[in-house]
Amino acid sequence: MTQDISHNIQDYLKRIYEITRSGQKASTSQLAQVLGISAASVTNMLQKLSKSSPPYVIYHKHHGVELTELGKASALKILRRHRLIEQYLVEKLGYAWDEVHEEAEILEHALSPLLENRIDAALGSPRFDPHGDPIPDANLNMPNMQQTPLTHLAVGESGSVIRVPHEDPQVLRYLEKSGLRPGVQVKLLSRTPYDQTIHLQITGKNEEIIIGPNLGSQITIKVDD
Ligand SMILES: [Zn+2]
Repeated sequence: MTQDISHNIQDYLKRIYEITRSGQKASTSQLAQVLGISAASVTNMLQKLSKSSPPYVIYHKHHGVELTELGKASALKILRRHRLIEQYLVEKLGYAWDEVHEEAEILEHALSPLLENRIDAALGSPRFDPHGDPIPDANLNMPNMQQTPLTHLAVGESGSVIRVPHEDPQVLRYLEKSGLRPGVQVKLLSRTPYDQTIHLQITGKNEEIIIGPNLGSQITIKVDD
């Protein structure tokens, strides 16, 4: 049944999953913002998704929305496809990591289960995509990860980058140029008190990398023991 839902609904479920991943509910205004549509349209869709049988979401006006088990499985299915496509394009077709998100947004809705399995096999069932996002396995289990926003590092503390935001090519080109990619170890040199901009250094390099609070909160790391 999840194969039959529209692209539009798949996008909603994916966005709700991303916002509610760490336990909080998603609000109508958050969804309106990330989907680029009006709050009224979001409310209509959430009402529809909560009344389908079986329902995809649990929604009470003014209390935000969360996914049912069915909604979560549908979201993980589309995220698996999105991330496998991004990894395939980079690893097998030579795309740069800032070129793959738009392609994946289109292709994730078109992949057949067979092609999804072939891509997974061709890549050796990868656990992460090029941006460090975990790829749910064929049973839709998500690899478990302890991660902290980069901005939570204390001055002098270090950690390894786990994931970077994948949607904005400009941001990805900046990170590429800075050498800030999943797997590298960074140390926090200083923090600007008035706006929480952070200054970092990659282990083994001399250049100082400057990251603003917005971007810094979207990059996650594993803090060194
Ligand atoms: Zn993407």
